[in-house]
Amino acid sequence: MTNIAVIGSGYVGLGTGAIFAETGYRVIGVDVDAAKVARLQGGDCPIFEPGLAELLTRHVASGRLRFTTDYADAVSQAQIVFICVGTPAGPHGGADMRHVREAAGAIGRHLAVGRRTVIVNKSTMPIGSGDLVDTLVGQGAAPGAHFAVVSNPEFLREGSAVADMLHPDRIVLGAADPEAAAAVAALYQPFGAPILVTDRRTAEMIKYASNAFLATKIAFINEVAQVCEALGADVEEVATGMGLDKRIGPQFLHAGIGFGGSCFPKDVQALAFMAAEANCHPQLLHAVLDINRDGRRTFVRQLDRLVEGVAGRTIAIWGLAFKPNTDDLREAPAVDIIRDLLARGARVRAYDPAAMAAARSLLPGVVFCADAYEAAAGADAVALVTEWNEFKGLDLARVRESMRRPVLADGRNLYDPQELRALGFTYRGIGRDRRHHRREQPLFWQHGRQHSEAAD
Ligand code: NAD
Repeated sequence: MTNIAVIGSGYVGLGTGAIFAETGYRVIGVDVDAAKVARLQGGDCPIFEPGLAELLTRHVASGRLRFTTDYADAVSQAQIVFICVGTPAGPHGGADMRHVREAAGAIGRHLAVGRRTVIVNKSTMPIGSGDLVDTLVGQGAAPGAHFAVVSNPEFLREGSAVADMLHPDRIVLGAADPEAAAAVAALYQPFGAPILVTDRRTAEMIKYASNAFLATKIAFINEVAQVCEALGADVEEVATGMGLDKRIGPQFLHAGIGFGGSCFPKDVQALAFMAAEANCHPQLLHAVLDINRDGRRTFVRQLDRLVEGVAGRTIAIWGLAFKPNTDDLREAPAVDIIRDLLARGARVRAYDPAAMAAARSLLPGVVFCADAYEAAAGADAVALVTEWNEFKGLDLARVRESMRRPVLADGRNLYDPQELRALGFTYRGIGRDRRHHRREQPLFWQHGRQHSEAAD
């Protein structure tokens, strides 16, 4: 039976361990964080990710999945070792490879002798990291410990990590050695996705280019939103009209305050850094980062205008996580927005369905509330920052009644401006200024009938 070791028990490592345990492999997860390992061994999932806790509980109980801090225990038994440690932004914008270096060294020292182990780089690593891991593992490996390194970037989205991993769009493998590529491809056969096999550098680049493209699409529509607002068009309807073009597609065309999270910001930055190091001039990537940074500042300036100066006012923040269905606050727009508001002298009351525990230590001075209603009560404005589903179903008439001033800044265009205005709110979305544009008829006309929604 194939044994798999997964190094790093974060979003990617836990998802990887869980899905391979689900397909029948024996998996050992390794992490340097002893407290995290203890929680995992007790069947307690340390992160909020839909469906993950259930899979972990099931497979820890079945014995197919366990966790340790001990590399020797995990690596010496494994035929395949996944590296899933973090690669955060370094001080100059490039990826900080400290954890990868440590992991690769430790793997090398514990490789089994007399057979071959395949090491799989699943963390997002700069182009050329396959060679680096090859060297570092080789330096520590005992004579007779054979190995090959395969690049296998991960494309999961936080908030739907388990579903994404069980139903991937594609699997990308970069390998110099066809047998090693075949061994990893075999693991992924049950998921039925196309498997693209290429060289390691190209595989590494596919990951960065994919994230940079998605980030660019978001920055593009956010820039268009600013122009819409200035010229009196509605960006939501512009995006709907664009997205119906199959060459463009509707995804990642939702205007808002911009992207955050542990991947897009650092990966775009790292790609720009690598490009500059190679004497290229990545103008588009720099523009994407600038537009994204501006989105947060513009939102605070807009709030400031809406309440005639935020100093001394109470602002309710709905949503802290960088996106819905996660508790991840890394590079979350809410963190910058709240810090900016506090610096301007505002009082901030916040609520998030999942990220409050992590936010408490990160955002001193904020009053954390039990729900969206409590946050809004007595506030001079509500700022919707993360588009959690539960915010869609709120009784907004009740919210308006409880506020000192009924001002709502919708950073994700979650609400219908006309409905909110009808309820008595002063409403501002992103790129939806309707001074010049007011829809009195349904958006779609088909076959002589009117539809308010796009047909399937
Ligand atoms: P994470 O920070 O959630 O988890 C990383 C884990 O690695 C932590 O638990 C940490 O304690 C552990 N670790 C650090 N050094 C270690 C070592 N030497 N040995 C063993 N464990 C060690 O990170 P993540 O979000 O899971 O991301 C991991 C990688 O995958 C990154 O390169 C990231 O860019 C990439 N990625 C992340 C996502 C995502 O949505 N989170 C998606 C695709 C790719």
